[in-house]
Amino acid sequence: MKKITIAVDGYSSCGKSTMAKDLAREIGYIYVDSGAMYRAVTLFALEHGIIQGDHIDEERLRQEMPGIEIAFRFNPERGRPDTYLNGTRVEDRIRSLEVSNHVSPIAALGFVRQEMVRQQQRMGLEKGIIMDGRDIGTTVFPDAELKIFVTASAEVRARRRYDELTAKGETCDLEEILHNVQERDYIDTHRDISPLRQAADAVVLDNSHMTIPEQREWLRAAYERVAGE
Ligand code: C5P
Repeated sequence: MKKITIAVDGYSSCGKSTMAKDLAREIGYIYVDSGAMYRAVTLFALEHGIIQGDHIDEERLRQEMPGIEIAFRFNPERGRPDTYLNGTRVEDRIRSLEVSNHVSPIAALGFVRQEMVRQQQRMGLEKGIIMDGRDIGTTVFPDAELKIFVTASAEVRARRRYDELTAKGETCDLEEILHNVQERDYIDTHRDISPLRQAADAVVLDNSHMTIPEQREWLRAAYERVAGE
């Protein structure tokens, strides 16, 4: 099998990361959750008073960007990488609804995207990488050998997110989550820079009615088809 680059893009909470992580582990590839990077910047902004209500102090964030260091370290207990912000593990905190509610406007800022894309491209220099996000197949790795575009209905995605948060013991409201999913879809597809869209050469996967093992198998077959060519 040749070493390739795999780009997995799609709407929020459609199970992209789960399938990407599983494939990476099976085939020994590096897995990068690019959404975690935008989430880490958002957590930083929230914790440093850069986000106040709906207002973002863009100038301060721009100044702070060089001091925001995001890294991934493999956690053997979870069998997946954890996200670190300036040396501190933030894997759980970046998944809160507060971060979810503020991440899309932060990810729409040009200077934030520029820095994240630069770091992502550096991670992928040697191939053997699978990265999930919104603009991986269109902007980060336009030459990726395998591009997948994942989609599912907003209701299905909200329900999955609800089940995930509830399983972690968080109290949450399904309607509020659905609203968050729909709002993020809107901002992600309508922003000026690198909006979420399907790359012309991407393969579409609608997983509304698929189980996790079914998706895993589908992705594995897509990988073998391309890497085995
Ligand atoms: O993938 P996840 O839902 O965790 O991503 C959080 C947010 O980060 C998305 O809603 C989107 O606004 C932003 N994002 C992005 N580009 C990426 C990955 C995520 O704009 N490549």
